Amino acid sequence: MSIPHEVARRRTFAIISHPDAGKTTLTEKLLLFAGAIQIAGSVKARKASRHASSDWMEIEKQRGISVASSVMQMEYRDCVINLLDTPGHQDFSEDTYRVLTAVDAALMVIDAANGVEPQTIRLLQVCRARNTPIITFINKLDREVREPLELLSEIEGHLGMDAVPFSWPVGMGRNFGGVFDIRRDRMRVFRAGQERRNDDSDIIEGLANPVIAERYGDDFKKASDEIELIQAAAPAFDAQAFLAGRQTPVFFGSAINNFGVQEVLDALVDLAPAPGPRAALEREVRPEEPRFSGVVFKVQANMDPAHRDRVAFVRVAGGRFERGMRLKVSRTGKEIRPNNVVSFLSQRRDLLDEAYAGDIIGIPNHGVLQLGDVLTEGEALRFTGLPFFAPELFQQVEVKDPLRTKQLRTGLTQLGEEGAIQVFKPVAHGGQLLLGAVGQLQFEVVAHRLKTEYNADARLLPSRYTMARWLTADDPKALRKFMDANAAHIAYDVVEAPAFLATSSAQLRVAEDLYPDVRFHAMREHG
Ligand code: GDP
Repeated sequence: MSIPHEVARRRTFAIISHPDAGKTTLTEKLLLFAGAIQIAGSVKARKASRHASSDWMEIEKQRGISVASSVMQMEYRDCVINLLDTPGHQDFSEDTYRVLTAVDAALMVIDAANGVEPQTIRLLQVCRARNTPIITFINKLDREVREPLELLSEIEGHLGMDAVPFSWPVGMGRNFGGVFDIRRDRMRVFRAGQERRNDDSDIIEGLANPVIAERYGDDFKKASDEIELIQAAAPAFDAQAFLAGRQTPVFFGSAINNFGVQEVLDALVDLAPAPGPRAALEREVRPEEPRFSGVVFKVQANMDPAHRDRVAFVRVAGGRFERGMRLKVSRTGKEIRPNNVVSFLSQRRDLLDEAYAGDIIGIPNHGVLQLGDVLTEGEALRFTGLPFFAPELFQQVEVKDPLRTKQLRTGLTQLGEEGAIQVFKPVAHGGQLLLGAVGQLQFEVVAHRLKTEYNADARLLPSRYTMARWLTADDPKALRKFMDANAAHIAYDVVEAPAFLATSSAQLRVAEDLYPDVRFHAMREHG
């Protein structure tokens, strides 16, 4: 098949939600409906408790297991759908932001009882900043939940975009009758079912069909009034507005009951965009161009304990990837020739033969590939946009047994490159490393992994720092001057970018006021 044809049938999206909204359940049902798995329950099994926040064994388990299913590829209606999972726990939100750089659309799951929750808002801000089109699924209508109209306006308020319902619930909780498919003017009748797909006997045609009014009485009356109301008030769906991130189509359902899932899958095929062009610093990369290029957006160490390998997750930006191809790492100019590349077809780590723009490939390597690296057939390309956020929590790290200092350094370098934690080398502290995190759990995971994967028992000690800002200046001398004057507060991160460490926001403000020529960044973009 030609490259343009393959690109046109790719859909790559991330599924995002606040924990417990039903992301895992919906993921599993999407796979079920696409025929990628036979029995529901297999995705569920991987999920470990995210609430035992101090129990890093659980986290470790989650990390280990979620890897295999962090990217899932399935075929549905002649489309190849790549679904990227995002970590549920907010302490790993940096990971999520990076995953969002690798997708063309997002599917947002909202618990109809809770509405828009804090973690969702953060994720939405990232989608908004990137103009990522969002499809909304409002879940758990089989429960007593909030009023659909209220949910819609809440979504609109938080998203700053119009919510355009494609379906509308008739009743809820014990009286949940089903959803009305507004665009196709028919109702899908709700039947509780765990492991089967839709079947068409559940359809009643026409909102005006007397069968509906008779069967669902007041609930139907209410739903049809509401539908009338939103049809008068809400804008019509506009594909361009959706693609530009100004409108979100909204679906209602109950993932656990397989209800509304088919509609979401169809929406992904019909509405979500195929991979588009991506701006490299040098030029625009088109998905259908003949030469391969791809970006590392995630690195996961030690996926397979037997091999102690690191897998770089690469989103194909353009061209075709073939196994055994020679690729060049733009950052270093090094050549690699990946043979045992993995794909993620229906959760098996299969060997992959070819991949196109939008696909994710996993390349095992020993540290050659880092976050943000670009792979091409030879051309030097750089992409920006892979975000690193200034840490808000800091700890000093020491090795318990000085003979294991080397292991500690190796471990921290690798975990830093993977983005599991940020590692800073203070200029002044006699080489003692400083760890920075966005969430507390990151420290626990890192300490645990240092011990189990690198055989380095680390001691984490409190640090007086509470903020870090990356530094740049148009005039290198201005930067030098600032760094010399504040040497006790300067550290370098894994890519040797200088940062200012502060113990309070007041201290940061003073520095900003005194050195107007220096810029202090709360975010660093790779590249
Ligand atoms: P995640 O944390 O977003 O991945 O959420 P899960 O998929 O693990 O779901 C969280 C909880 O909500 C689980 O107990 C699910 O069984 C339950 N759940 C998911 N979907 C539904 C639904 O449609 N209706 C009801 N009543 N419960 C659901």
